Amino acid sequence: MNFVSEKLACLRPYDPGTSADGIHLDANESFVPLPDSLREVIGRRVSALAFNRYPDPLGAAVSEAFGAYYGVDARFVTPGNGSDELITLLFNVLLEKGDRALLVTPDFSMYPHYGALAEIEPVFLQKDHALRFDADELIALARAEQVRMVLFSNPCNPTSQGIPAADVLKIVDSLNCLVVVDEAYMDFWDESIIREAPMRENCIVLKTLSKIGLAGIRLGFAVANDRLSAYLRAAKSPYNVNALTQIAGEAVLAEKSTLQSAVAQICASRDALYTALLSFAQNGLHVFSARANFVTLRTPDAPALHQALQSRGVSVRCVGGELLRITAGAPEENQLFIQAFAACVKEGALACG
Ligand SMILES: *Cc1c(COP(=O)(O)O)cnc(C)c1O
Repeated sequence: MNFVSEKLACLRPYDPGTSADGIHLDANESFVPLPDSLREVIGRRVSALAFNRYPDPLGAAVSEAFGAYYGVDARFVTPGNGSDELITLLFNVLLEKGDRALLVTPDFSMYPHYGALAEIEPVFLQKDHALRFDADELIALARAEQVRMVLFSNPCNPTSQGIPAADVLKIVDSLNCLVVVDEAYMDFWDESIIREAPMRENCIVLKTLSKIGLAGIRLGFAVANDRLSAYLRAAKSPYNVNALTQIAGEAVLAEKSTLQSAVAQICASRDALYTALLSFAQNGLHVFSARANFVTLRTPDAPALHQALQSRGVSVRCVGGELLRITAGAPEENQLFIQAFAACVKEGALACG
């Protein structure tokens, strides 16, 4: 006897796929350290915390700080234990078992994972060779398949491609279903619809602090109109965001210029990494323009390169057998990566080079 649901049969714990040593350009984390002054503020507030009390169930203060940073009213903001928690919540409470959800592919690997756990039927829109999809095509497929939800990341993980805000709003306004736009990487681009989302009946924007320097505290947000926000708050577990996370998130979001400077450093690193990688572009290796905090390239040798880099102590992500996703690192990390990459190519890990 197994005692548990069939749907768990093939599941394994999430494996970030990295070793402890070496340089890590594989998880889309920020390389910018939190300034000492902010660490001290957080430390002081944590030491004054009433550890015996439950945290604020709605995270009012951290939602205010988030709203002030992104220019949305805090009443439209629901915090979560990372945006991953919010994704599971969306599938589990806004949809019902057997409902169809439209996903694009490739996109964030956790969407089909959480969708399957909620027994949602995925409908996939395959992206074209440029790793893009057409808004009208998506709208037509969503209608034809009568999906109850559309979910995609913009800019996209793992492609680093983005679709303009006007196209996203066209999708939202053309469809009679929920449209969830995961803007985990929108800090590194400028086509957000976060301010428009609460004015729509059917739109939810997801955000996270994980990519801008706070992956360790697990803090994400859903932004949506009053009605949708009320459902999420009613359905979530009451104390989903712990007190330490609320304190740290509030303190960091209040330091607007510190966050903005970190984002600028990350964008500069991403652009430098892209430029450096372009010199390897040739038949069989394509470097995609980058909107997120990482650069994606396509080569049939992606798995071999991934292995060869790993053996030199450089971790990057290999996606779907033909994409390599390299997170923008500190300048010296990028340099070490490029050196290792050049060595791997020279050694012949790039068969068609
Ligand atoms: C990293 C990532 C997330 C997860 O964010 P957490 O807040 O760390 O759970 C969500 N969506 C996309 C597209 C991501 O790449």
